[in-house]
Amino acid sequence: MSINSKYPALNSTKELLNEAKKSILFVAERPEIVMERGQGMYLWDTDGKCYLDFIGGWGVTCLGHCPEAVKAALISQADELINASPSYYNKPMIQLAKLLTDYSCFDRVFFASSGAEANEGAIKLARKYGAKFLKGAYEIITTRNGFHGRTLATMSATGKEQWESLFAPKVPGFKHVEFNNIDSILDAVNANTCAVMLEPIQGEGGVYALDGEYITKLRKICDNLGILLIFDEVQTGMGRTGKLFAYQHYGIEPDIMTLGKGIGGGYPLSAMLAKEKLNIFEAGDQGGTYSGQPLGMAVGLAVVSEIINRNLAMNAEVQGDYIKRKLQEVSTIYNLKNIRGKGLLIGFDLPEDKGKEVVKECLEEGLLINSPRPATIRLFPALIVNREEIDKMFEILYRVLSKVL
Ligand SMILES: *Cc1c(COP(=O)(O)O)cnc(C)c1O
Repeated sequence: MSINSKYPALNSTKELLNEAKKSILFVAERPEIVMERGQGMYLWDTDGKCYLDFIGGWGVTCLGHCPEAVKAALISQADELINASPSYYNKPMIQLAKLLTDYSCFDRVFFASSGAEANEGAIKLARKYGAKFLKGAYEIITTRNGFHGRTLATMSATGKEQWESLFAPKVPGFKHVEFNNIDSILDAVNANTCAVMLEPIQGEGGVYALDGEYITKLRKICDNLGILLIFDEVQTGMGRTGKLFAYQHYGIEPDIMTLGKGIGGGYPLSAMLAKEKLNIFEAGDQGGTYSGQPLGMAVGLAVVSEIINRNLAMNAEVQGDYIKRKLQEVSTIYNLKNIRGKGLLIGFDLPEDKGKEVVKECLEEGLLINSPRPATIRLFPALIVNREEIDKMFEILYRVLSKVL
């Protein structure tokens, strides 16, 4: 028997979809298509239909689909060393840590594979800090409509109403407060608080940015109380918002920052960065089989270098402003409201709860966009997007809005 005969044939899209419905554990409604190939801003399904992608692998494929830099890094690192075990340093691990600490306000890096895992690391580090320096304080204040991941602890940290009763009992030690409301923070802090954790722009919550005055005050409160400020930049980091990291918009420095999504350009990779005073884990407190594995490190190194060398944060700002300008221009025609966001993380509201319908019609027309809330549309394309592609996106979007609204 040849090796190939072990693989099911599944030659047509219909066969694939039938099998998917039988053997893939249901976790989300998915459209009746199977993605097969990607290049730059485009994806193709198994029927050869082409899609202009303004979801970008969920804010992940920041260099576009199948970029040369990632391919080259994967191939050359796969030739050299794929995994040496987490017990040893490796060269790309050290290089990537140096690059990230050189370009941010942080001193130390822990690598992981997903955003949730990086956030788990941040939560553990904050609790360790509380145990060591704050008389055992362990409570972490997070924000309503925030999103921090799908592990038990990060779901507990997440301030999503629909999740409150899910998978009980929740991990204790999280208090949810209103986003951008300083009084809400003051009401919630007590002697048991060790940290405040939030996103600079709530992504899944519908693209809502931190207010500058609020975060300046919050930083002062944390300093005065000696508690930590944690930024979850899993979605906003790596150039997405027009700066390499979104905290740089605000003139403050968090104590801990987590990165995910864009940092791997499509490869599963995440990181938790912290200030020197937080280099307090003891051996065995934190780790992971894939922490700092060479293949991922080489990819991360290639992706981060590309973002910096090609100044893709600047492109995110320029193209993001262009998208918002074009949305403003037609806002009265389609009754679009609250056009918001920074760089290439953009949200706007439809006059009715027709997000799902707009997404579905766009898919039909070969455009991938996302609706994180019933009346909200989010655009977060690759950082390499250009004007031509944006104009093409708008052509389809206008047509769909005219039809649906
Ligand atoms: C996507 C996301 C996460 C979770 O990342 P995973 O890689 O899915 O675990 C956490 N925080 C924010 C802000 C995110 O956008």
